Amino acid sequence: MSTDGKTDMTEPLKDRLLRATAGSCTCDVKTPELQYHAPQCHYRLFEEAREEINRLNGIYLSAVKGRREFRDAFRRERENHGR
Ligand SMILES: [Zn+2]
Repeated sequence: MSTDGKTDMTEPLKDRLLRATAGSCTCDVKTPELQYHAPQCHYRLFEEAREEINRLNGIYLSAVKGRREFRDAFRRERENHGR
């Protein structure tokens, strides 16, 4: 949270969610292990959201990497064939 009371959007979403998980258990299970928490427990929801974000981020990063590799290969091809 920034000083004007608005959410700091530059803080990565996964980090904001990590902060939100602290003390968020609403089913009163005293363990960090997700499977023991109720499906609607807020701790479990936050942790599952973090897993989802990490998964999507992985897909995004591999897509960016793939795009960069394609662009570099395309550039090399053009340089090698003078077009
Ligand atoms: Zn819980």
